[in-house]
Amino acid sequence: MSEQRIVVVGAGLAGAHVVQGLRAEGFTGPITMLGQEPELPYDRTKLSKEYLQGRLDRAGILLHDESWYAENGVGLRLGVVAASIDRVARTLRLADGEELAYDRLVLATGADSRRIPFPGADLPGVMTLRDLRESDALKELFAGGGHLGVIGAGWIGLEVAAAARQAGMTVTVVAPNEQPLDNILGPRIGAYFADLHVRNGIDLRMGVGAKGILERDGCAGGIVTDHGDIATDAVLVAVGAVPRVALAQQAGLEVHNGVLTDERMVTADPAILAVGDIANAYNTLLGERLRREHWDNALRQGALAARTILGLDGAYDWQPYFYTDQFDLGMEYVGNNLATDEPVVRGALESGEFIVFWQRDGVVTAAMNVNIWDVNDTLRTIVGQAVPAERLTDPAVDLSALAAG
Ligand SMILES: Cc1cc2nc3c(=O)[nH]c(=O)nc-3n(C[C@H](O)[C@H](O)[C@H](O)COP(=O)(O)OP(=O)(O)OC[C@H]3O[C@@H](n4cnc5c(N)ncnc54)[C@H](O)[C@@H]3O)c2cc1C
Repeated sequence: MSEQRIVVVGAGLAGAHVVQGLRAEGFTGPITMLGQEPELPYDRTKLSKEYLQGRLDRAGILLHDESWYAENGVGLRLGVVAASIDRVARTLRLADGEELAYDRLVLATGADSRRIPFPGADLPGVMTLRDLRESDALKELFAGGGHLGVIGAGWIGLEVAAAARQAGMTVTVVAPNEQPLDNILGPRIGAYFADLHVRNGIDLRMGVGAKGILERDGCAGGIVTDHGDIATDAVLVAVGAVPRVALAQQAGLEVHNGVLTDERMVTADPAILAVGDIANAYNTLLGERLRREHWDNALRQGALAARTILGLDGAYDWQPYFYTDQFDLGMEYVGNNLATDEPVVRGALESGEFIVFWQRDGVVTAAMNVNIWDVNDTLRTIVGQAVPAERLTDPAVDLSALAAG
């Protein structure tokens, strides 16, 4: 194996899986991984679920314990910010001026919470959720009880709303679209999520746009909306994420909705790769570029980048996957549907246990299993196939038979 110097910027899920992949494939050269957070690399997906609910402690969300990095010869440097790249000299400059030389540099800088620059956005008590510190702040809020206002009915807004409600808070969610998640799952399945939240006591106000944050005693005291003011004790702004591309932009790499990479996670500069939430990578299966902010994407792209660095084969050739947990709903999704694709439901929505297939021109573009487990790998084989809707919904036709069309 070559002894190239590898530097990974970002000690999140994707960065950690690059490092893990390199060692798993037998790479023995020097690896440095930089993370601007002071924490050991952890699984961010737990911050709105088990960790927030107190079902996992800090140690329970770590990707590895501290000794793993030393045992695997990984120079993990935490609380360190990478500031700029000199592509000609192949050096990375840190915020404190230190320079690190690299042969291959991997950018895994993730995403920031999107912020809306409306009145009151900077008031104390306006919260976002992206890192451990912010999850701790929410937990503290939950402990005190009261009324949480959530702006945004996407995955994170809904997961936090559910956790807050389960912790005994009063919760109001506002969002401008007609149904939660309808921009992804379409209106029918979006309505299912709306019903789930209303049934569990969330005051869900769809079709309501937030215009600002109400001030009360110098702190966030509610949400100003186009349908009037809603008084709350704290406000979570959960309106999506923006990829952290500053470093890539400064380096002159191609950036358009993330850092552009080929199917092997390589940017326009062959010495620099990008993975995870920041990568807008060419997917060979779908024949288009995708940027996905999902756990599975971070794991798989991290492992793929490691193989690319080592000259091993592999490509971004899989269907996207994600999951969520909200109240008693657990689901997994595989595929890449448009919100306008036709949902076909196998089973009954009312039962709380069903599978949804999305179809476009007779072809299954995505599938989602809700509270039915160990079927997602089978669903993955069905996505991309032309299958008549009657077969998809027929309980007499075994799922495994559907892949054949
Ligand atoms: C609350 C929450 C819940 C989620 N739930 C789900 C879920 O249920 N299912 C799902 O599929 N996905 C979920 N996700 C998405 C998933 O967590 C992300 O897709 C994944 O973490 C992306 O990994 P990453 O390594 O690309 O980025 P990150 O995990 O964000 O890691 C990036 C790291 O880079 C560091 N960094 C950034 N810039 C610099 C710099 N200049 N110098 C040094 N370090 C830097 C950051 O501090 C951070 O530690 C969730 C995300 C959040 C925030």
